[in-house]
Amino acid sequence: VGDSKDFDSETESVCPFCGVGCKVSLKVKDGKVKYVEGINGPANEGRLCVKGRFGFDYIHHPHRLTKPLIRRADAPAKGLNVDPGNLSTHFREATWDEALDVAANGLTGLRDAHGGRAVAGFGSAKCTNEEAYLFQKFIRQGFKHNNVDHCTRLCHASSVSALIENVGSGAVTATFNEIENADVAIIIGANPIENHPVAATYFKQFTKRGGKLIVMDPRGVGMRRFADEMLQFRPGADVSMLNAIMHVIVEEELYDSAYIEKFTENWEAEKAHLADFSPEAMSGICGIDPEQIRRVARIYAGAEAGLIFWGMGVSQHIHGTDNSRCLISLALMTGNVGKPGAGLHPLRGQNNVQGASDAGLIPMFLPDYQSVMDDGIRKAFTDVWDSDDFSNEKGLTVTEIVDEVYAGNIKGMYIQGENPAMSDPDVEHARDAFAKLEMMVVQDIFLTETANYADVILPASALYEKNGTVSNTNRQVQRVRPAVPPPGEAREDWAVTVELAQRCGLPWVYSDVSEVFAEMKLNMKSLNNITWDRLKTETITYPSLHETDPGQAIVFGDGFPRPDGRARFTPASVIAPDEAPDTEYPMIMTTGRQLEHWHTGSMTRRSKVLDAVEPEANCSLHPKTLRALGVEPGGMIRLTTRRGSIEIMARADRAIAEDMVFVPFAYVEAAANVLTNPAIDPYGKIPEFKFSAVRVEAVEEM
Ligand code: SF4
Repeated sequence: VGDSKDFDSETESVCPFCGVGCKVSLKVKDGKVKYVEGINGPANEGRLCVKGRFGFDYIHHPHRLTKPLIRRADAPAKGLNVDPGNLSTHFREATWDEALDVAANGLTGLRDAHGGRAVAGFGSAKCTNEEAYLFQKFIRQGFKHNNVDHCTRLCHASSVSALIENVGSGAVTATFNEIENADVAIIIGANPIENHPVAATYFKQFTKRGGKLIVMDPRGVGMRRFADEMLQFRPGADVSMLNAIMHVIVEEELYDSAYIEKFTENWEAEKAHLADFSPEAMSGICGIDPEQIRRVARIYAGAEAGLIFWGMGVSQHIHGTDNSRCLISLALMTGNVGKPGAGLHPLRGQNNVQGASDAGLIPMFLPDYQSVMDDGIRKAFTDVWDSDDFSNEKGLTVTEIVDEVYAGNIKGMYIQGENPAMSDPDVEHARDAFAKLEMMVVQDIFLTETANYADVILPASALYEKNGTVSNTNRQVQRVRPAVPPPGEAREDWAVTVELAQRCGLPWVYSDVSEVFAEMKLNMKSLNNITWDRLKTETITYPSLHETDPGQAIVFGDGFPRPDGRARFTPASVIAPDEAPDTEYPMIMTTGRQLEHWHTGSMTRRSKVLDAVEPEANCSLHPKTLRALGVEPGGMIRLTTRRGSIEIMARADRAIAEDMVFVPFAYVEAAANVLTNPAIDPYGKIPEFKFSAVRVEAVEEM
C-alpha cells in the first residue's frame, strides 16, 4: 500500500460482490488495479470485507475472454468439457462482426421459423441497471414475449412476491443503517457475517450499544454470538415458529391497535388464523421452547422500534412466500414499518439484484414492477421504444425456461453474465437442457460452466471496467466507473446488447450509457429527481422527493402503495418441505455461500487471496455426525440425494444440527446443485435450495 503518488490513477466505483454496495476507490498502476480501498459511501463508511478488499485481481486473470468465439464445427459434443486454458479444442476466434452476425442470425432465425417464444433470455444481477434494462427490452421488443429472468428467481423472488402483495413494493422499507435507531432487530435465515459482512459490522455495533438482537436460523450462524436470543429452529419450520410468536402477541394484546386500524386490512382474518398456533402446539414442529417463543414475542412487540432482516434461509423454500408473509404480518401488527429504526429488510444478495429487478429483468413486470398484463403500461413502454406491442402474459421464470429448453420448445437463448449451469437446482438437468439448444449466445468475462455449452461467446466487461449505475439492498443508486478498460477486444455489456439488437433489426440508437439511463427515467417513477449529473457526486436513495433530496431511508410512514394506502395481512399455514427425510435419505442438506467465495465461484476462485484462503470444496457437519460416520475433519464424504451424488471434504462445525449438512455452492468439482431439489414456491417460483433429503456416507480410502 502506498501514497496516491504511487498509482497512475484512482477511480471511485462500487464493490462487485454483495448487495451491501460498498463504495471503493480503485488504485491503478501500469494498467492494472493494484489496490482497493473502502471510501465513504452511505452503506459502508469506508469499510470493506475480505472480498471487497482483496477480491479484485480476477479482472486481470489469464482466463479472461478477450475475443469473440464461435463453436467449431468439429467440436466435441456439448458438455462440461472445455479447458478454460485451452479453448481452441471447442471454439475458434472470430471478429466481432462475424460473432454478432452468427448470434443475431441464429436467434432471429429461430424466431422466424418457430415464433418468438423459441428464444428466451437470462440477464444478470452483476450487470448495471442500464444493462439490465436493455436486456429485458431486447427480449420484449425483439421476441414479443416476457420470457426473461435472472438470478433474483433463485434468491429473493418469494420475498418480493410477498412484499408486493402485502405492502405494494418489492424493495426494503428501511435501509440496514436504520438499525442505529432501532431497539430490537430480528435476523432470520441470514448469515450476514459471511454474506453481508459490512452490514454485519453495523449489526454488531447495535448490540454493543444495548440493542436487543434476536437471531433465528436452523444453523448456528455467526451472529448468534451477539444475540440476546438465538432460536435454532428446525429446517423448514419458519411458519410454525413465526405464527406462534404472533399468536402470543395477539393473546397478550401486545399489538398496535391504532396502527392496524389506520394502515392495514384483513387483520381480523389474521387474528382468527393465529388462534391455532399456540407456542405449545408449535413447539413440537419448530423445536423451540414455548417459553422462549413467548419471551421473543414480548421483546419484539414491546420495543419502540424494531427491524426485521431476512435472507435466503427464509426465501429459498417452497413456502418462501409464506415465510415472508409472516415477517410482514409481524412488523405490521406491531406498527414496525415507516418510522425510524423500524422496517422490513430482505438482505439482497448480488451487488445489483435490486437494480436489475427494478429495471424489469423479471418475467411478470416491466421496470418499476409495472405489470406486463396492463395494456396501458405496455403502451407507455412501446411508445418510448418505438415498438409494436408484445405479449400480455406473464413470462416464464428461470426454472420454467430451463424445463422448456429441455422439452425442446425453447431452442435459443441469450445469457448475459449468469451461470445457470452451476446455479440452477438439479443442475445436471439444466446442463442437459443447455446441450440441446440450437443457438446459445453467452456473454461473459470467463468461460463459465454455462459458456461450455455456448455456440457463440461474446467477451464482456467486469464491473471495474464499466460505466453505469447499480442499486444496493438499501435502494441506494450509485455510479460505477471504469478504472481500466476491458482486456483485449472485450466490450462493455450494454454496448454488446445494443449491437446485437441492431443486428436483430431493432431500431436502437445509443451513443452513451447515460442515454439509456435517461430513457429508463421516462417510465420509472422511482428514478424521479435522480439525474445522471447528481449521480456524478451523490449516492441517492430512491425515492428522492425533490432535486436536492438525498432520498428516503424509510418509506411508507404515511401509507402504502396499495388500495386505500393500506398494507395487508395474509395468513400463512404450515406447509412441509417438498421431500421429507426417510430411511434412504435420512439427513437434511442446506446450501449457501461462504465468506471468501462468491456465488458460483467464477470470480473469487480466480482471485489469488480468496482462493488461497478457501481453495477446496468443503461442507460442514456436526462433529458427532462425523464421528458416527467414522470420518475425521478433513476427510471425504459422499452426499447423495434423489438427483445425484458428489464427493466432498467434510469439516466439523458445532453450530450445525446433528441431522444437517451445509454445502456451499461455489465449487464446480463438488457442485452442490447436482443435489438440490428443483421443487418451487408457487408464488415466487423460487426453488427449495434450503432443504433436500440427503444420504451421507464416508468415502472409503483406496
Ligand atoms: Fe463488497 Fe459486500 Fe464485502 Fe461490501 S460487504 S466489500 S459490498 S462483498
